[in-house]
Formats: sequence, structure tokens, C-alpha cells
Amino acid sequence: MDRISDFEEIYTPLKITEVKPLLDRCYNCSEPFCSKKLIVDNNLVGCPLEININKIISLMKYDLYDEAYKELTKNNPFPEITSRVCKGYCEYSCINNKDNNPTSIREIIRTLSDYALDHNLVDTSIKENKNKKVTIIGSGASGLSCAYYLAKEGYNVTVYEKDECPGGTLMYGISNMRLSKDILNRRIDLLKKMGVNFICNTEVTRVISPMEVLDNTDALVIASGVIKRRFVCPGMGLKNVMYATDYLKKVTKNILTSGKSDILENKKVLIIGSGDTSSDVISYALREKASMIAVIDYKNMPPLKRTNSWPQPSDALIIDEAILEARAKSKMDPRSFNMTIKEIIGNNSVDGVKLTQVKWENGNPIISDREQTFPVDEVIISVGNIGFEEDLINYFDIDVVNKMVDEFKHNNGKVFICGEALLNNGVTALAIKDGLKCAKEVSEYLEA
Ligand code: SF4
Repeated sequence: MDRISDFEEIYTPLKITEVKPLLDRCYNCSEPFCSKKLIVDNNLVGCPLEININKIISLMKYDLYDEAYKELTKNNPFPEITSRVCKGYCEYSCINNKDNNPTSIREIIRTLSDYALDHNLVDTSIKENKNKKVTIIGSGASGLSCAYYLAKEGYNVTVYEKDECPGGTLMYGISNMRLSKDILNRRIDLLKKMGVNFICNTEVTRVISPMEVLDNTDALVIASGVIKRRFVCPGMGLKNVMYATDYLKKVTKNILTSGKSDILENKKVLIIGSGDTSSDVISYALREKASMIAVIDYKNMPPLKRTNSWPQPSDALIIDEAILEARAKSKMDPRSFNMTIKEIIGNNSVDGVKLTQVKWENGNPIISDREQTFPVDEVIISVGNIGFEEDLINYFDIDVVNKMVDEFKHNNGKVFICGEALLNNGVTALAIKDGLKCAKEVSEYLEA
């Protein structure tokens, strides 16, 4: 397993001509479901940004890469990012996915986007300066897309970021193997070239007062993202219990400064939760040479083979790159379902965990009285995020009653809010879309 010997990106870069066989698998459907954002049985399918996939592929078939990239970036300012981190909602609804073998849309888009970056096809032109200032708090996906649109329209854009580098979750919450920080930094450099001013290491409310920020801007956008869900379990206060977001951030910082990281070296690690973030933790833990990696999830194990039908996303057990790596390393799947944690045991630091089984009856969990103790050195909590940065929302008295609605709200004159702070669904493409939508509203407000 050469791949887990370093923290480099896992994708094999393709030359633009090498994607030709992939392009040929697109039928140029007259009614392409891949490009339409749809909700099917409460599942998102189709491209959330509604890019015109079959047109892009058709242009690429004729080697018209410049035109294809222009078409791609009409709705998606950062395709090099979405093609790496998106789950592939477009591929769920591709007609070829009826046979569980969709057109490789993400690979095609990633190759085209990298080609565009390498061949200076990215449009960084901006309109005449409007001499109006917009300040954005937060530099994740929605903050960056909002900054991109407003800078392009000729506004003076400043972005506050509490961490050392811009990017938010894209920088610190997604592994370097899924989204290389070099790729992200290339985009951030392009935004700087467009005039976006990033002020890092500056948390609004703690380092600078929100009122000072508000007084010095014509419009303020809150794109501060979500905060982690608080997990309650006896022993949470022990050393070596970490939230996944904190762990991913520490490793990413280590990689950025020295190219290596060994926080979990020779450690037995239990990860609670089996979603995308959990997979990023597995990938990092493998490369840090953890001696054992186990994952528990209280949910029922998904079926091994798909039981639902196109265009729903497959309900089968997800086998992503991290799980493949873990299986290759230890010859077994690290995940155990129908399991939950009763207690983390230890004195100062973690010695082990008490686990128990969960049965589901009529949608309700029945927790077993029996428990088993397992020795572990580290516990990593990966149970998702919740809500928004309350300090900021409360400070500006923003109405977030409809936070699950694909809308942003601005109840305080020149204060706007967008992205995960409202959506809380972990879909990068939707956060980008929301940032663009918010930027248009800011622009209309400033021009009124
Ligand atoms: S649904 Fe699949 S085959 Fe049809 S246009 Fe989209 S990518 Fe091509």
C-alpha cells in the first residue's frame, strides 16, 4: 500500500486527452438528470450547482477545452474543489447509474479544472471598482464563493478568518488526500489576485469587535460555518479524547508546516461515527501509522447490495477510498454497526472504552444492558456538526428560524448570512451556491 506512505492527494492526475474514453460514456441525454438538482425521497440527486454537464462533455469531445471551462464556471466558480470533495450527486442521477456504473463526471470535471489552472484559463478579470466595501466573516466554501462574486463585480472585499490560513473546512476539515491544500491555495491566490483581502488569525468577537467590523463596511456577510456537535459520554474530559474536526485540523497543520504528522503513531484508535469526516480521520490515522483503527456507529448496517433504484443514491454500504485503504491494510472493514459507547475509561488519559449493542425497533434505539471493555489509546468523536456560531448570530440578532431552508436572511439592514451557518448539511456545492446567491443579494442591496 504505497498510497498510505504519504499525505499526498489520492487521485491519479490525467492528461486532458486521457479522459477521452470517459467522455464517450456520456450519451448527451436530451433530458440530462445529471444537471438538475432534484430531491428524490428526501435525497439530493443531480448537480446542486446545476452545471450543464452534457454540454461541457460535448465541447470536450471536440477538444474545445476553453469553451468547456467557460461553460463549467458559469455556475461553479471552484470546480477544481467540488470535483474533489463532492459526493457525486450528478453521478447518482446519471442515466448510466441505472446499472451502478455512471459516467465519471467528477473525474472529467477534475481533469478539465486542473487543465484550466495549468493553462491560465481561469478568468480573474474584475469590473470597474465600485468604491464600496464588503466584509465577510469566514473563509469556507460559502465565504470564498461570496468573495469571488463580489470581487468580480468590483467591490472591495475583506475576509476575516479565525485560523492561520483561509479555507475553513476546506483547509482544515477535509484531508489533504481528498483535497490537496496546494489546489486550495491556488484558488485562494487567484482570489487575492482579484483583490480579495484575507485577514487571518482574527476571530471576530474575540480579536476584533463585531461593531468595529460593521462600522467599517458597507455590507457584512456572516459565513462562519457550523460548530461541532457536543458529545456527551462519561470520560469525555480525559486526555486523548478528541473531536474529529480538531484532529483533522492538527494533522493538516502538521502537514502544512513539516509535510508529516505522527499524532496517532502506534496508538489504538476508536472513531465514533462513520460518515465522510470519519473516513478522513481513518485516512490520516493510517498514514500516521496507528496500530489499530476501529469505527463504531449506532445505526443499522446498510445492505451490502443496493436495494433501491435509480435515481436515488444507492443505499448500499459505502466503500470509499479510506475504507478500501483500511481493508487493504488490516484485511477487514474497520466499521462495526449497531454499536454505541457507554463510557470512556482511564485515569488521566484514555485506557479503554465500554461498548454496547444497539437494536432498532420501530425507529427507536434499544440499548443493551450488556457491555464489553476494549483497550484503546485514543477516542475520536465524529458525530457531525450542529447549528451556527451563536456568538455572531446572537450579536447581530439574526433570524435563523428557517435555517434549514435554502435561503439566507438579513434582518439587520446591512448584515447578511449564508452557507453552512444556515444550511448545516455538509454539502460543499450547496454552500458555494448559497455564497453566490448571497453575494447577488448584497450587490442588489448596495446598488439600490
Ligand atoms: S445523465 Fe449521464 S449520460 Fe446523460 S448527459 Fe448526464 S452524464 Fe451524460
